[in-house]
Amino acid sequence: DPTAPVLEIDQITVGYGGVPAVRGLSASVRPGEILALLGPNGAGKTTTLLAAVGALGLMSGTVTALGDPIDRRIERNARRGVTLVPDTRGVFHRLSVSDNLRLARRRNGPDLDTVYQYFPKLKTMRGRRCGNLSGGEQQMLALAKALLANPQVLLIDELSLGLSPVAVQDLLPRLRSIADEHQMAVVLVEQHIDLALGIADAAIVLHHGRVALSAPAGELRSRRDMVEAAYFGRT
Ligand code: ATP
Repeated sequence: DPTAPVLEIDQITVGYGGVPAVRGLSASVRPGEILALLGPNGAGKTTTLLAAVGALGLMSGTVTALGDPIDRRIERNARRGVTLVPDTRGVFHRLSVSDNLRLARRRNGPDLDTVYQYFPKLKTMRGRRCGNLSGGEQQMLALAKALLANPQVLLIDELSLGLSPVAVQDLLPRLRSIADEHQMAVVLVEQHIDLALGIADAAIVLHHGRVALSAPAGELRSRRDMVEAAYFGRT
């Protein structure tokens, strides 16, 4: 079934040293869908992403990706097509843009020209050392590297960290096109609520590790009051 969820998170409780940071969270994402994961600092967004890629053991609940339970051997999940873009950018500063991209290429993945189509600026900068790129350009490169792994499920932790709203406004619509064209399922942790709701299909607001609100993004665009209430735990 091509429209079945490729990522299913069912009632997970997960945390650190036996202390839950996320409790009873459920979510599912289908091919081509973008789920925005919102919430204040410390709400449990990063913890949820780490659990979804198998990097944290679950205290209870299950995560199923591409039809199988998520594996604690995270490199196997990555090879199967579950890719995490970390909030620390994960680019090699001493290498050029094109060498960074070449290192990220996988068999059966798209070629460099395909990602240059989404990010023409990277092509014009392909010979430059990554250490000399701006924050926004490095984020673009981190996203391009993740795409070269040809993921079916892409999880992104604050792509816009440290970026200007203008740069985010530029980057997020490209993510929408990529999800559409490659039928890629995306989970997006994002601080820019309106920009995230603008491209997402669904959104979850976390508060103190619990789901305070879960709804289609379209409904929430006109109900910012509900989103804000969930942010502050008034639900
Ligand atoms: P932010 O927007 O600040 O990144 P977040 O929503 O991603 O926040 P998490 O990083 O998932 O939140 O943190 C959730 C909770 O788990 C917080 O209370 C945090 O202090 C705690 N936590 C995160 N990492 C660890 C860790 N390695 N050890 C212990 N507690 C942790």
